[in-house]
Order: sequence, then structure tokens, then C-alpha cells
Amino acid sequence: GDAQCGKIREAIDLLSFEGEPISWERYGSGHINDTFRLVCRDGEKEHLYILQRINHEIFTDPVSLMRNIAGVTSFLREKIIAQGGDPYRETLNIVKSRDGKDYVTDSDGNYWRGYLFISGATCFDKVRNPDDFYQSGKAFGHFQRQLAEYPAEELTETIVNFHNTPVRLETFKKAVEEDVCGRAHLVEEEIKFVMDRADEAGAAMNMLKEGTLPLRVTHNDTKLNNIMIDDVTGEALCIIDLDTIMPGLSIFDFGDSIRFGANTADEDEPDVSLVSLSLPLYEIYTKGFLEGCQGSLTQAERDMLPMGAKLMTFECGVRFLTDFLQGDTYFRISRENHNLDRTRTQFALVADMEKKWADMEAIVCKY
Ligand code: ADP
Ligand code: MG
Ligand code: MG
Repeated sequence: GDAQCGKIREAIDLLSFEGEPISWERYGSGHINDTFRLVCRDGEKEHLYILQRINHEIFTDPVSLMRNIAGVTSFLREKIIAQGGDPYRETLNIVKSRDGKDYVTDSDGNYWRGYLFISGATCFDKVRNPDDFYQSGKAFGHFQRQLAEYPAEELTETIVNFHNTPVRLETFKKAVEEDVCGRAHLVEEEIKFVMDRADEAGAAMNMLKEGTLPLRVTHNDTKLNNIMIDDVTGEALCIIDLDTIMPGLSIFDFGDSIRFGANTADEDEPDVSLVSLSLPLYEIYTKGFLEGCQGSLTQAERDMLPMGAKLMTFECGVRFLTDFLQGDTYFRISRENHNLDRTRTQFALVADMEKKWADMEAIVCKY
């Protein structure tokens, strides 16, 4: 609206864009931030930018968030230059404020940032064919490899305990005990499913504590539309949407991608008999991911990849079930038992992975 228009103007004036701002329009299909494409003119030359209002309801600490992004992108920049790549297309580039900061605030207290616009590349909302899923695996594997030497402990955990499964389980147990909606008796089977796997769910975090798994930079939002695919080569060019980069485990990014990308059914499919792990899709992603990692994972990380897939699926199901028990306050629902259906698809997928475990491990060994 007009109010936001005034604020955009404020933000534009505070950021060090080159040339005169000519026009801006809403851009892309992201669901979190308000994203605009900005055109600036400097004589004959046009400069394109992305301008974003950071969603500070979801990201309550935009200053730390931008410090994370600035740290990771400047590290990537140096790496890409050393490798002879194109630092303007293969990573995000922050446009600084006129006073040298990585973001600006408007008079309403909104946080804004600018990025150079990456041209000649596209973000796709849906996987069009298995090659997209392969490219995605390769891109996120490459992201791991490029950031393997980054001091991950220096990143701020912008969403605390995001993939801390034991903490998620504690929240779940509390929800069962409190049973504020009187729904626990409806899901006894699902509660048992969780409790049967409670010990196993702590394995990865224990390995981190013991030093068996290294702390890594994780992206945490590995959707296809957070990857720019080069229009000419058809290959992944750049990983974007770095709002959720945090310290974590490499198996989180891998596992979550398998969870949403290799399921034969939708996440909220009411007919759980349609849910299964597609081994061909699992294999394609694993191949891409490990090729992208180029040997930068430790043996223990490789061994734990199937567990990463199971853990992310299990954890997601636990979160849906917790929300069902708490009265659907976190995940938006559009029908009765929506969160219960979501829980059941995740647990059906976990159960199918358990059946296919030997195949999942054998596929990791192949690459
Ligand atoms: P959200 O968190 O809302 O998903 P994103 O950072 O993913 O926000 O941006 C939304 C969309 O804007 C992306 O899917 C992509 O299409 C586009 N976009 C973001 N950054 C750039 C960029 N630097 N160059 C070109 N397009 C971009
Ligand atoms: Mg996005
Ligand atoms: Mg995002």
C-alpha cells in the first residue's frame, strides 16, 4: 500500500544503490519477506537490485541475522574469487547502507536490506523433473563444501534449538501431559510411535556433543525456490535466502530435503497408504549432495545421512503432533485434523524408511 511505499522510499534513500531509483515492484514468490525488484539508472546504465523488508515477526533478531549473512557471504565471495568463479552471480552480495551497515531501518522500525540482483537465472517453485532435485542436492552439497572451513560456532542461532530433537521431544511430552484440548486419547498410537523412538532421536545431538559429528553451517530452508538455476546451463548457480543459516549438522539440510522431496505423497495427504520413500528420488538427491560435497564430509557424517533423513522426518512429525495436542496454534490448518494428517504422513514416511534402511545405507556407500 501507500504507507509501505513511503517506507520503501526511506529504505532506498538509506542504501548505497548506484544511480537514480527509477522503479520497483513486488518480486518472486517467497512467503516470508517482502521482496521487491528495484531498477536504478545511471546515465545509459541500468542497475538491478533486490530490496527486502525482513520479516521481523519471524526473525526477532534481524541484526544477528544480518551479521550471519554478511559473514557467510563475504567468506563465500573470497572463496569464489580464489576459485576463479563469478562472485556477483554465485553468491548473494549485500548492498551496504550509506553509513556502512548491512541493513537499514525505516521510521516504522522495519528492517530493510539490499542485494545485487542476480540476472540470467531463475528460481523454480516446484520440482519439474528429477534433474531439478539432483541439481538441488548438488547445490546444497556444494554449499557445505564451500563453507566447510567456516567457523560455524561464530554464527548466531537465530531460531534457538531449531533442530534440537531432544528439546522438541520435551515440549511434546509436556503437551501430552497437559493435554489442553483433551485430544491425547485420540492419538495414543502416535504417542507410542514417538516414545518408541525417543532414545534414537537424541543420537545425532549426542554425537555433536561428543565431537563425533562436526558443527557445520546449515541453511535450514533447502526448498527448490531458494536456489537460482542458470538459464543457460540449467545448473544450480547460487543459493539464496540465507535468513536461517545457523550452526548445526550437515545431516539436517540433507535430511530435510529428503523429507519433503522424496516423499511419494503430499505432506498433508489424508490417505497414508500413498506415503512412501521414493528410493529413486532419494538416490538422485544423495548422488547430487555427495558430488557437491566433494569429500568434505567426514565418514561419520556420511554414515549418518540416512539417520538425518529419518530424524528430520520424525522431528517434523513430532512438531505437527505437538501442535495438534496444543490446539493448532503454530501451523496453519485449513481443515479438521489437518495437523494429525500431517503427523501421520511423517510417521508413515519414518516407518517406510525403517523398512528401506539397508537400501538407504547402500545408496550412500555408492557415491
Ligand atoms: P523469502 O524468505 O520470502 O522466501 P527470498 O530471499 O527467498 O525470500 O526471496 C524471494 C524471491 O526473490 C526468491 O525466490 C527469488 O525469486 C528472488 N530473489 C531473492 N534474492 C534474489 C537475488 N539476489 N537476485 C535475483 N532474485 C532474487
Ligand atoms: Mg525463499
Ligand atoms: Mg526465507
